[in-house]
Amino acid sequence: MKTIGILGGTFNPIHYGHLRMAQELADDLHIDAIHFIPAANPPHKNSVTISAEHRAAMVDLAISNNPHFTLDVRELNRTGTSYTIDTLLSLRAELGSDASLTLFMGSDAFTQFNSWHRWQEILQHCHIALVQRPHTNKNQTSKLLPKILEEFLHTHYTENGEDLHNSAAGYITMRQVTALDISSTAIREAFKQQASTRYLMPDSVIDYIKTHQLYK
Ligand code: ATP
Ligand code: MG
Repeated sequence: MKTIGILGGTFNPIHYGHLRMAQELADDLHIDAIHFIPAANPPHKNSVTISAEHRAAMVDLAISNNPHFTLDVRELNRTGTSYTIDTLLSLRAELGSDASLTLFMGSDAFTQFNSWHRWQEILQHCHIALVQRPHTNKNQTSKLLPKILEEFLHTHYTENGEDLHNSAAGYITMRQVTALDISSTAIREAFKQQASTRYLMPDSVIDYIKTHQLYK
């Protein structure tokens, strides 16, 4: 079965938290193709000032040396708000119904999952692999899980990564990855303060930000 991982985000800008999480989940779940999908107009963020083109260009630079990672600009090519459900349907149309699709998500994103557009349909089209993000409440993450399981009889929580391999969609799993306390918010703030962001993100991305005078 074909296995695809998806990491959606604002990537404002991309950093090693994103990259390391994607790498470790790919290794753990034996996924060979990871799509990094920048949101054009994310519904949960109303203060994105950096253009989608810049954010995508930084993703492209950050992943260019990894043949398993690809920049997927489908949300940039759509107008209106970027909804995950539309992205999944569009990926499904390309990959067919039997590919295993796994949405990678940090626990902070997952705590808002039940406010996402048509969230009840999302697990019909993909699995979800969750990682705990530093400084987020573990109880909040685990409390939501049973709620979702209750609502969808065809959704299952699993700790066995093989389950995700053997079916196209419908599993939620919580995975351990190296906890990196890095966020785009803190990076934007560091640029504003003219503080160093070295070793938080690839040098190529730092150079791009300086060249284009982003996050002033
Ligand atoms: P911001 O501070 O602007 O919200 P961010 O660092 O949270 O940015 P996003 O683009 O919002 O980055 O995140 C995209 C996805 O990556 C989300 O699912 C988020 O939980 C996850 N993620 C971001 N940073 C990390 C990290 N350090 N460790 C694990 N997951 C992360
Ligand atoms: Mg975030």
